[in-house]
Order: sequence, then structure tokens, then C-alpha cells
Amino acid sequence: MTAALKNLIGLDRGEFRAELEAIGEQPFRAKQLWHWIYYRGETDFAKMTTLAKEARQRFAGLYTIARPTVSREQVSSDRSRKWLLRFADGNEAESVFIPEEDRGALCMSSQVGCTLSCAFCHTGTQRLVRNLTAGEIVAQMMVARDAVGEWPSPKDGRLLSNIVMMGMGEPLYNFDNVKKAIHIIMDQEGISISRRKITLSTSGVVPMMARCGEEIGVNLAVSLHAATDELRDKLVPINRKYPIADLLKACRAYPGANNARRITFEYVMLKGVNDSPADAKELLRLIKGIPAKFNLIPFNPWPGAPFECSDRAAIKKFSEILNAGGLSAPVRVPRGRDIMAACGQLKSASERQRRSKVPA
Ligand code: SAH
Ligand code: SF4
Repeated sequence: MTAALKNLIGLDRGEFRAELEAIGEQPFRAKQLWHWIYYRGETDFAKMTTLAKEARQRFAGLYTIARPTVSREQVSSDRSRKWLLRFADGNEAESVFIPEEDRGALCMSSQVGCTLSCAFCHTGTQRLVRNLTAGEIVAQMMVARDAVGEWPSPKDGRLLSNIVMMGMGEPLYNFDNVKKAIHIIMDQEGISISRRKITLSTSGVVPMMARCGEEIGVNLAVSLHAATDELRDKLVPINRKYPIADLLKACRAYPGANNARRITFEYVMLKGVNDSPADAKELLRLIKGIPAKFNLIPFNPWPGAPFECSDRAAIKKFSEILNAGGLSAPVRVPRGRDIMAACGQLKSASERQRRSKVPA
């Protein structure tokens, strides 16, 4: 029996070089291969024409650069595209491409399911099955690139220009793999997306926030969603461990945050729950002095959800109060709701049937 092929996607630059060195290849060969995989997006060793034929055959006998299987693709009426990806062990996760006029963001998952159970989040009703590996995180970008046809990595005018770590899971609970994956995606001889175009969203894993700034260096988004601990304890249960004061302290200390690079506070608008003018005023008081902006997210419904989205007038008023306090607070236009691809709606299909924390 032949040994299973090793997937090269997900090795960082150092590991990649070491892997090839171990089979007797020179560092320049590692560089060439990296370029084929991450800059050109080639999936077939035989087509890597700058490599000697003998090397191509050797690599094909040892390695694979196969992507996960796309179990399902859905396209929204607003052109968002959602892919359900199936990994080698049968687990699945979703990623979503959100195109704009002249650019676009890929929303990537970090875990299959989530251990946290935010009251308004569909992913949160699914148990954590496991962390995604660095390779499985990078592969989400590669699948999207394949689908959009954006190889080799264009210098300007990219359709896939930004990344948001806002899919399934809590990225700071899978720190090492997320860090590694983002470094591979940022590598300038490969996919080359700048850290300024990458945003990581956390529900508030306070002890990991400084490392996120120092070791990954991406933009930070924080899921705030409430102005008091009493309410946040209910909506975002991690608050019981890391309450608002601790969270905001970590935001004040976030490496690299300044007026040009603000922390985004995400705030889901829940009718009659967290959307009063008094809530908005309390937020202004709380975050005074933090280089921040808000992102107001109209609640995206899912079957059995115990909330409704705030009225348009309430959201407008809320936004105006924050603006008057000197904060930008745009209302996020929901994208891909018709295919359950909007914020907080993701859930892997097979999981939906099998392992809900609550009955679906
Ligand atoms: N686990 C991370 C990132 C994924 S969720 C986090 O919680 O930050 C991305 C954003 O969508 C978060 O701000 C999350 O709170 C929000 N969200 C979750 N469910 C939602 C829903 N049903 N409607 C609108 N936003 C939601
Ligand atoms: Fe997990 Fe984020 Fe959903 Fe909370 S909002 S359950 S942290 S994915």
C-alpha cells in the first residue's frame, strides 16, 4: 500500500523549507514550489513547468495540494457566495465571499462549531467539534480564489481583497492555527494580503488579545453587544469570565490601535433588548478614550431564534447618538441572508441534523 500523501497547504515558510530539505531539496526549490502553490494557485505538480520534470514527479509521489471538497455552494440574490467545505475527516465548515463594487471580503471560519453559546448566534447552537487546522483555514482562501478565478495573485484591483475572521468559531480559542494561517496568507511571495486588510473578530477572549496584536497584527473587532455586564452576561456568556471592564482594558492596550487604525465594536441590534438611546449613551461613556468605531449589525434571524431585529428607526437613532458622541457607527447592510450566509447564521449542514446543543 502506498503511504498517504502529505498536504503541503498549512505549513509555514520555515516548516515548508524544512519539509523539502528533509527530502534533499535546496531552499531555492522550496521558494519555487511556494510560488507555484500560493502565488499561482497551481494544483497539479505536473504543470509546474519551472521545476525539473524529475522533481515534479517526486513531489507528486509524496505530496498533495488538494483543497477540501466543496459539499455545497450557494449564491445569494446579492451575489454573496457561501461554500460548505468538507475536510478529510468528514467535518464541515462554511466560508462566505461578500463582493462589493470594486473589492470583496472573504468571511472565514476558525472552528467547526463553537464552544461559546452567544444567545443570538446560530453557530453557537452547534457544539464545538474541533479546531480547524492552519491548512484548513488557508484552504478556505484558496477555494474562494479558485471559484473567483483570481490566480495568479493580482497586484491591484482584487475581487478578494479583504479577509474577516468572522465565520464559525472563536478565532482566539484556536490562536496558534489562526496565527499560522494568517501569516501564510499575508506572505508577500504568495497570496499576499496585507494585515491592514484582515480583521479578526473576538467575542472577548481577553488573555489572548495582546498576543493577537503583537503576533498577528491584524485589525481587531470586538463583539460587544451590550453596555452592562448584567445584559452581556446573558447575551455573550464569556462575559461572566471576562467582564466589560477587563475587555475594555485589553482594548485600550491593544498593540497597534490608534486613530488611524481603530478597534471595531460590533453591536447586534436586538429589538427591545439592547437598542435604547440609554444603551447608546452608556456605550459612549464606556469606550471614551479608546480609538474605536462601531459596526451596528441588524440581527440576522435563524429558525427558533429568541430575538427580533430592532426597528429601522431605533437603529437610526442609536447610530445618530454614537455619531454625535464622535464615533462612526455605520449600519451593516445584511448580506446573503437568503442563503443563511449573514453574520451569525453559519452552521455546518450535517451538524445541523446531528449535534445541536438545543433542538433545531
Ligand atoms: N466568534 C467571533 C467571530 C464570529 S461571529 C465573535 O463572536 O466575535 C461575527 C459577528 O457576528 C460577531 O460580532 C457576532 O456576535 C455576530 N453575530 C452572531 N450572530 C449574529 C446574528 N444572528 N445576527 C447578527 N450578528 C450576529
Ligand atoms: Fe461563537 Fe462568535 Fe457565535 Fe458567540 S457569536 S457563539 S463566539 S461564533
